[in-house]
Amino acid sequence: MDKKLRFNSATIHGGQEPDKAYGSVMPPIYQTSTYAQTTPGGHQGYEYSRTHNPTRTALERSIASLENAKHGLAFASGMAAMDTVLKLFNPGDEIISTDDLYGGSYRLMTQIFEKYGLKIHFVNMENPDSVAQHLNEKTRLIWIETPTNPMMKVVDIAAIAALGKGHKALVAVDNTFASPYLQQPLDLGADIVLHSATKYLAGHSDTVLGLLVVNDDALQEKLAFIQNSSGGVPGPMDCFLTLRGIKTLHIRIQRHSENGAAVALFLMQHPKIEKVYWPGFVNHPNHEVAKSQMKDFGGMLSFVPKGGDLATSINIVEKLKLFTLAESLGGVESLAGHPASMTHASIPKAVREKSGIVDGLIRLSVGIEDVQDLIEDLDQAIG
Ligand SMILES: *Cc1c(COP(=O)(O)O)cnc(C)c1O
Repeated sequence: MDKKLRFNSATIHGGQEPDKAYGSVMPPIYQTSTYAQTTPGGHQGYEYSRTHNPTRTALERSIASLENAKHGLAFASGMAAMDTVLKLFNPGDEIISTDDLYGGSYRLMTQIFEKYGLKIHFVNMENPDSVAQHLNEKTRLIWIETPTNPMMKVVDIAAIAALGKGHKALVAVDNTFASPYLQQPLDLGADIVLHSATKYLAGHSDTVLGLLVVNDDALQEKLAFIQNSSGGVPGPMDCFLTLRGIKTLHIRIQRHSENGAAVALFLMQHPKIEKVYWPGFVNHPNHEVAKSQMKDFGGMLSFVPKGGDLATSINIVEKLKLFTLAESLGGVESLAGHPASMTHASIPKAVREKSGIVDGLIRLSVGIEDVQDLIEDLDQAIG
C-alpha cells in the first residue's frame, strides 16, 4: 500500500499485503524451519526461519508502520529484544537508564551485562538535567522507560533525545506501557523503540513476544545480525497472535484509557486511599509532559492504601474478584499486582523504596470490562 495510512487504519493494514498464494486475508502461519531452493542460493528471500520467516516479516512491517519507523524486528520476548540492544555495546561503554523501570530490565542490565563490562547509571529522569550530569564520552545509550513501571513517572523523550544527539549516544525508549497508539518515540527523536508485545500489542494475555523499531539502516543491520546470531526469535504462531491483537489496538487503548481515568478518579476520592499515581491528574508532577507527548493516559496506575503497610495491601489484592492477581499487564482483562513481591522483587528493597516502590504499593492494569464492575470490585476489596 503506497498511501501513508492514519493510525487507526495502520493497525489493520499497515505493512500488510494480500498473501500471494491464495489471497488469504490474514498472513498465513508459516510453520516451517526451512525453504526449498531451486539451485544453491535460489530462493525467494527466505532460507531459514531463525533468520527470516514470512509471518514474522508481516509483524515486523506492521510494528514499523505503527511507530512511523523504517524497520521492525521481532523477538521471542521483550527481554530478548532488550538483550539484543545491549549486545550492540562493548566493555567499558556506559549506559544511563531510568531508575524506576521494569524489574526484568534492571536485572538484565545489572546481573548479566555489568558482568560483561557495561557500566550503568540509574537516574531519575523526571528532570533531564540528571541525565546531563552522567553523560560523558563513554556514554553509548540512554535507556528511557515512560511512563515508568510502576510509579507512572513521565520522562520528556524529546528533551532527553536532544541530549543523546549532542553526545552521539543512542536513545532507546521502552514504549510498552504507552503502546504506539499513545506515544511514538521515534517522532520525538529516539533512535530505538522497544515493546514487550506480550502486553498491549498482543493484548490478550496469550503470547510472549518482543519488538524493536529503528529508522537507521546501519543500526537495523547490526540489530538483525545479533538477532540472527543469538537467535532469540519468535515462532510464527506467536507472530500471528500478535498481528491479530494489533488489529484492535486502537479501540482497546481508547477503552483502557477511559476505564483507567474512571478508576483513578474513584481511588483518588476514596477515604481509605493515600496516594494514586496516574499521569492524567493535573497535579501529577509530569502532567504537562504527559499531555504533550501522549494522546491519552492509558490503563496503568498504581496506588497506596492509607497506612501503606504490607498487610493492608496484601489483604486488598487477595479480596479482589474481577481483577486477577497476576504478573503482566496490557490484556483485555483487569489485573492487579503487588510490585514489591512480584514484578519488582528482583530489585533490592532499598533501591526499590528509593524510587517509591513501597511495600504497600498496588499496581493496576485496568482492562476493558464495564468500568462500573471494576469500581465495585475495588470498593468491596478496599472495604
Ligand atoms: C513485561 C515488560 C518487559 C519484558 O517483556 P517480556 O515480553 O516479558 O520479556 C519489558 N518492559 C516492560 C515495561 C514490561 O512491562
